[in-house]
Amino acid sequence: MNELASDSHPSSSAGSQKPAGSRAGSRKALAILGSTGSVGEQTLAVALAEPERFSVVALAAGRNIEKLAEQVRVFRPALVSVAEPAGAAALRDALGSVDVEIVVGAEGLDAVASHPADLVVSSLVGAVGLAPTLAAIRAGRDVALANKEVMVMAGALVLREVQKHDVALLPVDSEHSAIFQALAGQRAEDVARLILTASGGPFRTWTSEQIAEATIEQALDHPNWDMGPKITIDSATLMNKGLEVIEARWLFDTQPDCIDVVVHPQSIIHSLVEFKDSSVIAQLGLPDMRVPIVVALAHPERIALDVPRLDLAAIGRLDFEVPDRKRFPCLDLAYEALGLSEAAPAVVNAANEIAVSAFLAGQIRFTQIAETNGAVLNLHASRIGDAQTGADGGSGRLRDLDDVLEADAWSRACARDWLAASA
Ligand code: MG
Repeated sequence: MNELASDSHPSSSAGSQKPAGSRAGSRKALAILGSTGSVGEQTLAVALAEPERFSVVALAAGRNIEKLAEQVRVFRPALVSVAEPAGAAALRDALGSVDVEIVVGAEGLDAVASHPADLVVSSLVGAVGLAPTLAAIRAGRDVALANKEVMVMAGALVLREVQKHDVALLPVDSEHSAIFQALAGQRAEDVARLILTASGGPFRTWTSEQIAEATIEQALDHPNWDMGPKITIDSATLMNKGLEVIEARWLFDTQPDCIDVVVHPQSIIHSLVEFKDSSVIAQLGLPDMRVPIVVALAHPERIALDVPRLDLAAIGRLDFEVPDRKRFPCLDLAYEALGLSEAAPAVVNAANEIAVSAFLAGQIRFTQIAETNGAVLNLHASRIGDAQTGADGGSGRLRDLDDVLEADAWSRACARDWLAASA
């Protein structure tokens, strides 16, 4: 498993090239975008536990100066980036004579992303992670990708850049890590289907009538994973699984009709790959984000990890069911977006962010999240139609980051208007 040949992965983006950062005998140098967040902290915990394997050469954080200062004292990176000049001054004060270059803002993020490193860990949350991740790819860096928005918003663009610069994209999301592991040593032409598992969320067994009355507290009560409020709501609507289908489409350069979703309430099988001879390879484990993080960091090797072990006999049974696309329409909206245009995934993602915030603020009902996403996607479809007939509108192509950000901003405005009109 630790001898991945250069052609060992079928996709052109996820690990299809040289093994990431595998320079024999030297430590893997890490640059971390989002070092004070959850994935960033867990990455640093691995680096601390494995000093012979990893060095930390650059860190980027936002406003948590205190935590960042502590990280700089422990890991002594050459370069650090913060969101604002005031934060840079506070960090300089806190660090005293520690020798580190401090940079600021979007340029600072780009500097960390393109700093000489073997692996850039992209773990900023949200659209702010897009530009630095593209900068890392364009600088020829391999990337461990924990930021969902990168592939959801800009997948078509990122895939082209990954192919052009011949870098490896190592997924950190549990489902995509599972697929990445199942694909190891296989040829692209032998793959029949990618199968993403979904827990089904807290409303898996609820009727449509019950779901229509769901409260914020009920939607936030996820059965298996402890996550932030936005992604927990996305799990309840199955939009999260839809966004993961979009990620898989670009990460593994696979057509949407070769990507399936199966509901698996125990979250033990993290995803599967079916091959043309009907063999299916799955990756299993207890739900623990440390595992996909370590898989990406150590690739193509593996690191001993002190976490609870899977005991299949103790679990006893694993259950599966078809996702109910009527009760959870967000799943089909993701497939619809993939069929519409390169920009449509960014559109449905942005509409969903607006709708989920409105739901969490108590302004709309749970089912209005899917309604908003569907309505904005329809408006995007008409807009592309207008562009094709020469009227004003977006083409739906993603030529560069500006196109992604335009689609995102357009969608947010549409979603707000639509919610205001339907209030
Ligand atoms: Mg996931």
